[in-house]
Amino acid sequence: MQSLRRSGAALLRGPSGLTSFWRAISTQAAEALKTQPSQLFIDGKFVDAASGKKFDVLDPTTGEAVFQVAEADAADVDKAVKAARRAFDQGEWPRMSGKQRGKILYRLAELIEQHAEELAHIESLDNGKPVVMSKIADIPLSADHFRYFAGWADKLTGKTIPCDNVFGKFFAYTLHEPLGVVGQIIPWNFPLLMLAWKVAPALAAGNCVVLKPAEQTPLNALRFAQLCNEAGIPPGTINILPGFGPTAGGAICDHPGVDKLAFTGSTEIGKLIMAAGAKRVVPVTLELGGKSPLIVDKNVDVDKAVEDTHFALFFNHGQCCAAGSRTFVHADIYDEFVEKAAKRAAKRKVGDPFSDVEQGPQVDEDQLKKILGYIDVAQREGARLLTGGKQHGSKGYFVEPTVFADVTDEMTIAQEEIFGPVQSILKYHTTEEVIERANANCYGLASGIISNDINFINTVSRSLKAGTVWVNCYNVYESAVPFGGYKMSGIGRDKGAYALEHYTQTKAVYQALEPNQPWLLPRPSSVHRSPAGMGQLMSKKPKLEINDVDRAVLTLKSQARKLEQQRTRIQGDIDRERQIAKELVAQGRKDRALLALKRRKLQEVQAERLDGWLLNVQGMLLNIETTKNQQQLFAALKEGNKAVKDMQQAMPLEEVDKLMQDSADAKAYADELNQMLGESLNPEQQEAAEAELEELEKQMLEEQRLEMPAAPGRPLPAVPATEEEEKAAAAAEATAAQLAQLPSVPGTTVAAPTAAAAEEEGPAGEQEREAALVSA
Ligand code: NDP
Repeated sequence: MQSLRRSGAALLRGPSGLTSFWRAISTQAAEALKTQPSQLFIDGKFVDAASGKKFDVLDPTTGEAVFQVAEADAADVDKAVKAARRAFDQGEWPRMSGKQRGKILYRLAELIEQHAEELAHIESLDNGKPVVMSKIADIPLSADHFRYFAGWADKLTGKTIPCDNVFGKFFAYTLHEPLGVVGQIIPWNFPLLMLAWKVAPALAAGNCVVLKPAEQTPLNALRFAQLCNEAGIPPGTINILPGFGPTAGGAICDHPGVDKLAFTGSTEIGKLIMAAGAKRVVPVTLELGGKSPLIVDKNVDVDKAVEDTHFALFFNHGQCCAAGSRTFVHADIYDEFVEKAAKRAAKRKVGDPFSDVEQGPQVDEDQLKKILGYIDVAQREGARLLTGGKQHGSKGYFVEPTVFADVTDEMTIAQEEIFGPVQSILKYHTTEEVIERANANCYGLASGIISNDINFINTVSRSLKAGTVWVNCYNVYESAVPFGGYKMSGIGRDKGAYALEHYTQTKAVYQALEPNQPWLLPRPSSVHRSPAGMGQLMSKKPKLEINDVDRAVLTLKSQARKLEQQRTRIQGDIDRERQIAKELVAQGRKDRALLALKRRKLQEVQAERLDGWLLNVQGMLLNIETTKNQQQLFAALKEGNKAVKDMQQAMPLEEVDKLMQDSADAKAYADELNQMLGESLNPEQQEAAEAELEELEKQMLEEQRLEMPAAPGRPLPAVPATEEEEKAAAAAEATAAQLAQLPSVPGTTVAAPTAAAAEEEGPAGEQEREAALVSA
């Protein structure tokens, strides 16, 4: 093929010499050719090949050269791979956000649509397919493919995997990272669409690309390069190198800077690509040949089945890897089917792809010869030729739509890929038999079933060894649905999310956790009894509205205010009790003074608790007020809720209420005492009382035990015998009597035994009382 294309260069005599060609093709194709890039696309620029070589692009309709493009070889591949390497290792593409990559790929899809008309004409000129097919299938499907993968660019996320083992606890997650520089080699049957299938997932995942289009069809790949620049794809991210398989293709496969190979083409070349990948241990995906069975059940509308099977094989002139090239028809309808299939094929309109036809020329002379060779072999092997069988016309590479009946499994045309408009019809009798025969082939790319029997469809579709099964349809290609082969039809999948697996590699990241860090804290049941009502708020409304938060803040604030007031009051009482105790000591009422000290001690314990609570509430407030987003607010409230729970455990609400009441009682008690004891002591009395009180306090703290309060009627300590002293004693007694009438201070109301009772109880009873007092 190379020699033919090179010799064709002599046909080109500059623009004036080409005028006649342009008239012969289509006005639009001729117009498009005027702006057609002809150089290699490397690092964002169109450049000549290092060797300066060019090769001809032939029009398959005439077999004549209509254009020339630069011919890449190993030197250009090296330049392109280095540019792609730079773009990947230092450039923007793999470093920009997936969202940004997606935007650019969307733009690219739109640009393809905007240029659809000229792209369609160039495609048909290059490949020979009817321009109507380029317009309704190749170009829109290509745009759709870029749009589909643009959507994936920001969704390539990994997984989170909690794990713990003998070494501890770990938080692990995966990242889906691009592979690097991807070498891609594509065929000629759907030039732009095959490019889209390869390039779109690679770019979406953040890779950089070096692509070789088929020698027969390099034009739209170069136009696509122009659109990449226009869309804003950074230089070096994509490089397009027209050239020949063994030179440019081989150099891509062997280049040490290429991290992955992706190929669509013949199984024969696929094996070479795989071997090249194996040498350097780089991943390889292959979409190769096929010999797809299409099984027609007996209870079907024969006319429709004929039309469906016709489309399955003749679409794109039979140049489809997935073509339904083994038509298995049930014996019950076989004769009718065969007759109608031949008639349908004979009616097929063949001719100039820019006119109203169903079928244009095959892509090149090699393919034409290969197909005619298979037709010849089939006849020699005994297949019954129903229609066609020859070249169509004498110019270009047209083949008559051909139908063979009575094809048997061992015939060459039932075994090998013809890649042309040649239908082979085979007869079958049973379901088991047809499944067995359909699978008896080295390929496993696609398959089809035409049937109205759901059980037949289910059994056969599951039994076929093929990457795709079309049921009552064929050649449906949706960007989101994977495509690829079983057996020798390839490795991996193009299209859909499955394709992305071949353009990403998975990185696992482990992060060590604190050994005692629990995965999940238990949810406290007491949360529902939270004083602020926050437990309810949180359990009922997992998503907090800002109003809820405001309410929670207000509740907490009022809670905090109350607590502060209470704390101040208790502090006053604590101070007061000490003063009272001091005065009682000065008056020789040691037991009373001790009682006051005990009260003071209890109030101090309560004050400490209040301090802790206040700290928590204030902490919560701070958290909530300083937090900006809802998630953080939620976390703050959770934390606050936990604090509330802790407080509840430390001091139940009822106790707090009681405490407030106690504190009020204590104050009233102290006020009354003050009134009764009259003016404060003189300085000497103060000093003596202070010293004695300190001693008393020390003794109490050291012993860590509290004595019982005096009970009403219990004898007070002996008083001096002087008149003054007797007066003082009488006054003290009166005071004691009055004191006995006062309400007792809560928390200190442990009934004191009478002296007789105390004697009766003995030391054990006294211990019990002590314990009761301490716990109070
Ligand atoms: P190939 O498999 O030879 O070509 C496919 C691509 O591979 C082309 O770009 C080709 O370059 C390139 N290539 C060829 N040799 C090498 C190599 N040694 N190293 C790297 N790249 C290479 O297919 P053909 O075009 O020759 O067609 C032959 C048959 O292949 C068809 O009749 C059909 O049966 C099958 N085929 C299958 C396709 C499919 O979609 N699965 C598509 C096309 C063909 P160059 O263009 O220079 O040859």
